[in-house]
Amino acid sequence: MACTEKENYNNKEWLYKEYITKEKHIHEIANENNVSYSVIQRRLVKFDIPRRSQKDRKREKNPNWKGGISKRNGYITLLKHNHPKADRDGYVYEHIFVMEKHIGRALTSEEEIHHIDENKTNNRINNLYLCKDYGEHMQIHQSLGKIALDIYKLGEFYSIDFDHNKGQYYIKRLEY
Ligand SMILES: [Zn+2]
Repeated sequence: MACTEKENYNNKEWLYKEYITKEKHIHEIANENNVSYSVIQRRLVKFDIPRRSQKDRKREKNPNWKGGISKRNGYITLLKHNHPKADRDGYVYEHIFVMEKHIGRALTSEEEIHHIDENKTNNRINNLYLCKDYGEHMQIHQSLGKIALDIYKLGEFYSIDFDHNKGQYYIKRLEY
């Protein structure tokens, strides 16, 4: 292990990412950093990072545990008691969870997630677009209405696609 990586666990942001966002176990983090279990445990306390409950830890070890899936407002939610965005009952939106895992950090309070196919339960990463704020999110929804009309006028050789880099729907000419 390189020297620069050795002290990672002394960094709150890094440890948060490993334990909360990536959901690694304490022993995993300890092994990867060549330190004992109690070193990581003490850092979690020091940095005020919430520990997974005894119940959650038991569930994690059970291969049949499917993660407590539920639904709220048409969106899929997951039981993640220690997640900072969890509601009172301990549920967090799956699309938020998937995106945070993908980008390796927590979403800011401004950021929003758009479901590209407008299906609230399709939380595959390809169907999710991270909007920098509410404004960008609304702009995407408005552009979809306009572009649909443009395509209707153009006719059968055109279709619609989504550009993940620009965060925009666009008209695509179909190749035959
Ligand atoms: Zn949306």
